[in-house]
Amino acid sequence: MNEYIKNCLKLFKNYKAENSRYKIKLDANENPFNMPYEVRKALANELLSGECKTNRYPDPNADKLRTAIANYCNVSKEQVIVGNGSDENIQMIVNAFVDREDKVLCPYPSFSMYGVYATIGGGITINIPLDENFEYDINTYKEAIDRYNPKVIFLCTPNNPTGNVISQDFITDILDYYQGLVIIDEAYYEFYGHTMLNDIIEYPNVIFIRTFSKAFGLAGLRIGYMVCNKNLAEQVLKVKPPYNINSFSQKAALYMLDNIEVINKHIQYIKDERQRLFEKLNQIENIKVFPSHTNFLLIKTENIEQIRQSLKNEGISVRKFYSEPLLDDYIRVTVGNAEENKLFLDVLSNNIERKDETL
Ligand code: PMP
Repeated sequence: MNEYIKNCLKLFKNYKAENSRYKIKLDANENPFNMPYEVRKALANELLSGECKTNRYPDPNADKLRTAIANYCNVSKEQVIVGNGSDENIQMIVNAFVDREDKVLCPYPSFSMYGVYATIGGGITINIPLDENFEYDINTYKEAIDRYNPKVIFLCTPNNPTGNVISQDFITDILDYYQGLVIIDEAYYEFYGHTMLNDIIEYPNVIFIRTFSKAFGLAGLRIGYMVCNKNLAEQVLKVKPPYNINSFSQKAALYMLDNIEVINKHIQYIKDERQRLFEKLNQIENIKVFPSHTNFLLIKTENIEQIRQSLKNEGISVRKFYSEPLLDDYIRVTVGNAEENKLFLDVLSNNIERKDETL
């Protein structure tokens, strides 16, 4: 039946997100905290009072939410576009700027949806390998720019799944060297706390993308946003589906920004847990754990499949990268709450010890 599919998708393998039903879910870089009680109550009241009307289409411009995001980012509302998760922002960027057979540079290993959407959009995805320490290498990028003359470059900082950040020098160098579009994905920005957004947002070729799925804990409500200069924003709006953020999600994200102190506490908790988890993992022999500026840790060890199976038996899911040969010996674990992290550590250390005994 594949005679009907677009040519560029004939050999394409789609991204398969798992619907994991594990007791302890540490596989998708979600937040361990649900919406704060006060926010849930306020939203419930909006539904009960009829203030949030489901018979009406949502605000197509998401005016209130964009104003709040603009304040949060210290930019103007016209520079903000909201998407149904960052996923949709990536898709909108491809739809607006990538013509058939345009080259799109995607870091590897990194978030796979850049390449997925670039390919679906008819572009040519070119994976640019990070160096042996998973750093972005400026020379590799400059060579790729010279060789491929790409239309778009995706960068991810902090990078998923490696957890490290791109240096300011790298970003400045790229912007000096290259006039095509540079997309900077800061999905995990809040766990790092530093950004060049306000320094370079007026550049004609820079777009930042962020999400409410991670630090804000709204993965289930699908809200992402992008920030860029007004001219670029006008171009992206040409491809934005009119009602892409539902009314409920718009309100929820607004309430979250109004309760930023609670969110900041959650972020601090996650960062403290990350540090604790990192130190404990570092003490386990035969494991390499990578420093992280996100809410997850990348771990390298030998008997990955056995570990994953033992974690699974205890109802704990982590991310294994099945279709990524480079990451065969790695798992990525999301920082959960203290209890979840402890259970994860217990299972992991038992398995590593068991391996040692059998050696
Ligand atoms: N960018 C990165 C780097 C991510 O890791 C993710 C989600 N794992 C996304 C974007 C997508 O986020 P969203 O839930 O907003 O679609």
